[in-house]
Amino acid sequence: MPIYEYQCTKCGEKFAVRQSVGEDGSKLNCPKCNARNPSRLISSFFSPGPSVGEMSETSCPTCSSGVCDLPPM
Ligand SMILES: [Zn+2]
Repeated sequence: MPIYEYQCTKCGEKFAVRQSVGEDGSKLNCPKCNARNPSRLISSFFSPGPSVGEMSETSCPTCSSGVCDLPPM
């Protein structure tokens, strides 16, 4: 099972949850403040996107939304 990272929208706490593919985070609660509906942090390992700041240097800037034939610089 893949592990997804979530961030609490209330307190900003980041936590990882092991979930089945296709499951969403709507039933999850923040382990710190117990707020519902954390936002999923999309790992650049699976799908590079503009929302991932710290790993953005590994993704191609011209085709960050899809698969790229060019190796990252
Ligand atoms: Zn929280």
